[in-house]
Amino acid sequence: MAGLPHVVVVGGGFGGLYAARALAGRPVRVTLLDRRNHHLFQPLLYQVATAALNASDIAAPLRSVLRRAKNVTVLLAEVEKVNLAERRLTLDRGELGYDALILAVGAGHSYFGHEDWEVFAPSLKSLEDALEIRRRILLAYEYAERELDAAEQRALLTFVVVGGGPTGVELAGALAEIARQTIARDFRTIDPTRARVILVEGGKRVLASFPESLSRSAQKSLERIGVEVRTGTTVTGVTADAVWLGGEQIRARTVLWAAGVAAAPLARTLGVTLDRSGRVPVEPDLSIPGHPEAFAIGDMSLFRDTTGAALPGLAPVAMQQGARAADNALRRLSGRPTRVFRYRDKGTMATIGRAAAVAVIGGVKLSGLPAWLAWLFVHIMFLIGFRNRFLVLFEWAWAYISWQRGARLITGPWRGRGG
Ligand SMILES: Cc1cc2nc3c(=O)[nH]c(=O)nc-3n(C[C@H](O)[C@H](O)[C@H](O)COP(=O)(O)OP(=O)(O)OC[C@H]3O[C@@H](n4cnc5c(N)ncnc54)[C@H](O)[C@@H]3O)c2cc1C
Repeated sequence: MAGLPHVVVVGGGFGGLYAARALAGRPVRVTLLDRRNHHLFQPLLYQVATAALNASDIAAPLRSVLRRAKNVTVLLAEVEKVNLAERRLTLDRGELGYDALILAVGAGHSYFGHEDWEVFAPSLKSLEDALEIRRRILLAYEYAERELDAAEQRALLTFVVVGGGPTGVELAGALAEIARQTIARDFRTIDPTRARVILVEGGKRVLASFPESLSRSAQKSLERIGVEVRTGTTVTGVTADAVWLGGEQIRARTVLWAAGVAAAPLARTLGVTLDRSGRVPVEPDLSIPGHPEAFAIGDMSLFRDTTGAALPGLAPVAMQQGARAADNALRRLSGRPTRVFRYRDKGTMATIGRAAAVAVIGGVKLSGLPAWLAWLFVHIMFLIGFRNRFLVLFEWAWAYISWQRGARLITGPWRGRGG
């Protein structure tokens, strides 16, 4: 193995994992680095945040996923810097050289220059975020139950979600269902069904990446389950107990952030020109300009298709790019020409709550129950690991029939007021 070329993959998310899988059994030595020891199925994170699934349902240890790939070594490490000229990575401890590099470190949300809002309005990216958001949601009801001041109680029962993309829509829908169904009869002083869930979107419509008719249908579904949708509205301030929408102040103890995109900070160490979201613009074969042996894929990269449109930050884009980058790395190492990446769009979907969703599959627009069933099928099928798939399906079926979220409604101790 020692004499084989060394391919380093950074990030064990959708892009990195699919790249590592494509390199399994090939004549290369592969090192997969991630600062976490698990692959995370991000599309179901909001289900953990809203107590519909357990954290372990949507994560799989990278070591076990790649157990059979004997030429792949998994290392828990944070990459701090990439030196493209010297083909060397600086890790949290030590350094690592490579012959070919595949970077897939993903992206997070952008606070548009207001990073100080993050402590009051967490975003959803990791399991830790999901559990923290769940804690805040559940404690808001607990605090409200023992609050004597009516205005403060109202603030505790007001939930604001910022950003009307798929994550924001899904979160707002789930928050409304928790209030109106799951815990509707569990309190004595407060009436959870009177909780306010407000979804704020700066653009003209929610789910802007979907056809307009599906945006309208999503907004109607949200309103039907009690979400106040405020489009064309910009957040101008967030504090521990309020959100400002221009001159209007909304007192709210729970604010969740689902707006903007910012590539992972590692991209800034590459020394190449980045786009406004900090993403790496890549060549048609996914390589980094001027460095044909280094590839950037998934959410951290900016890939324009033949029409000039940027590909969206979606799991299938990262997965397909992972496979193409792996093949191109092998081609580069053996002196063969690389291939251009072509995205096969199999559709996009977003769920709005129990049995409601919107989807575009093969150009066909779906909404309501058919879209939700398609959404359920796709999300279960792509979960990594069979154990997860069956358990999750069972948990889901039970939650669906009973409206209950069971022991997942348990949260941490009283730690004083607020955030
Ligand atoms: C809440 C939410 C819901 C979503 N829903 C959907 C959906 O329904 N459908 C869909 O298609 N897409 C969805 N997405 C988007 C999808 O998850 C992403 O497009 C996809 O994860 C991108 O894959 P990636 O490999 O580029 O990055 P990621 O999957 O984010 O993986 C990046 C990996 O890099 C690691 N990493 C980061 N920095 C470092 C470092 N410096 N050193 C070492 N490791 C590092 C991270 O730990 C992580 O494991 C959703 C995303 C979120 C957050």
